[in-house]
Amino acid sequence: MQQTTERKEKNIENNKNNQRKEQVKNATVVQKRQYPFFAIENPVEENRVSVFVKTLGAVLKDEKYKLLLDLYLNTCASCNSCADQCHLYQTTHEQKDLPAYRSNQLRSVYKRYYTTSGKLLGRLVGARDLQESDIDAMIESFYRCTMCRRCAVECPMGVDNALLTRIGRCVLGELNLAPKNFTISTSQQLEGIGNTSAIPKGAFIDTLDFLQDEIKDMTGYNVEFPRDKAGAEYLFIAPVSDYIVEADTLMGTAMALQFAGADWTIGTEYYDAINYGLFYSDKITSDILNKLLAEAQRLKVKKILIGECGHATKVVKLFMDLFGKHKFEVQNVMEYTAKAVEQGRLKINPTVNKDIVTYHDPCNLGRGLGVFEAPRTIVRAAAKHFVEMFPNRERTTAAAAGEAGLRCRTCMSSE
Ligand code: SF4
Ligand code: SF4
Repeated sequence: MQQTTERKEKNIENNKNNQRKEQVKNATVVQKRQYPFFAIENPVEENRVSVFVKTLGAVLKDEKYKLLLDLYLNTCASCNSCADQCHLYQTTHEQKDLPAYRSNQLRSVYKRYYTTSGKLLGRLVGARDLQESDIDAMIESFYRCTMCRRCAVECPMGVDNALLTRIGRCVLGELNLAPKNFTISTSQQLEGIGNTSAIPKGAFIDTLDFLQDEIKDMTGYNVEFPRDKAGAEYLFIAPVSDYIVEADTLMGTAMALQFAGADWTIGTEYYDAINYGLFYSDKITSDILNKLLAEAQRLKVKKILIGECGHATKVVKLFMDLFGKHKFEVQNVMEYTAKAVEQGRLKINPTVNKDIVTYHDPCNLGRGLGVFEAPRTIVRAAAKHFVEMFPNRERTTAAAAGEAGLRCRTCMSSE
């Protein structure tokens, strides 16, 4: 009898211990929230709902967004024409990839907390209380859109779902809910070595010397990558990663600029045109942009010439007036080169390239900035057989990752 009682007490004690272990395990699961990104740094874990709502309110007060936000969030006719144009939805056919569904995630919060009808009538007018799970759904959905703006071209109401995606990301960014590949790169630029690839100045200068030697070995020409030439007409700045992975592009650019007679320079105090702030934060966009503009100011150049990169060109062209502490004329290198071809300053022999060549309009440069003809002028001058691909120009399909800028777990698992 004594033994049976002891066994029972022991069993009760064991059960209690197991229950405690289970509670600790569950508490750990709550703390370690799973995000769709491969990595994320210091996300806000507490009061996410109130921080989200407050941040959206701050965005709504911002004059540059207020009008568009009000308009886009009120005018969607739910016709879903945008779904037919979205390469992402056409690939996955998942609800979270419907352009209007994604925007609606933001719209329902806006209606619930920032409109009188939403506050009074709630779900009757499409408003609903924001839940923790809605924030998780937004993180995934907003970072799957490439912000290519293909859907905006066809929307009968003129709604730009890509802008709503960006605003959603900016709100999430305030909760530190941004992918680590963005946050690490931008902090390297702003607080670290000063560029997204963490290339020190000495190594960068060595690379320029190396590229000059390469051009000499390959072509026999002495082509210079001029540096820190004060008063030059153009400051040339490309994504710093191009110096590692796109060396051919940069060698071609240097040759085109020299043979066209450009008065140009590279700055060695700041030499990275990448601005991933564009993908998730106005503040970071502005800080990085102003580092670039400060380099142009230091060298007293007249104009800024951005390398081939579409997003880098878009940031400087579109955001300089909004955020820039200095103002310059800005061109993409393709615009400069096309002009040099048209004016006869740059002669290219098209018979060297005998293959059939086409051109895929990139979203940022094409649909984003309307640079459609300059690349075609260059390709036609450089190749005998140019053919258009379809669709093209403003109806082009996104060329790559665009401003998704990352591959989330779900994308990877559906590949
Ligand atoms: S965003 Fe435009 S195309 Fe898409 S559902 Fe709304 S009104 Fe229709
Ligand atoms: S911006 Fe591009 S990826 Fe995003 S919803 Fe529109 S078409 Fe789809």
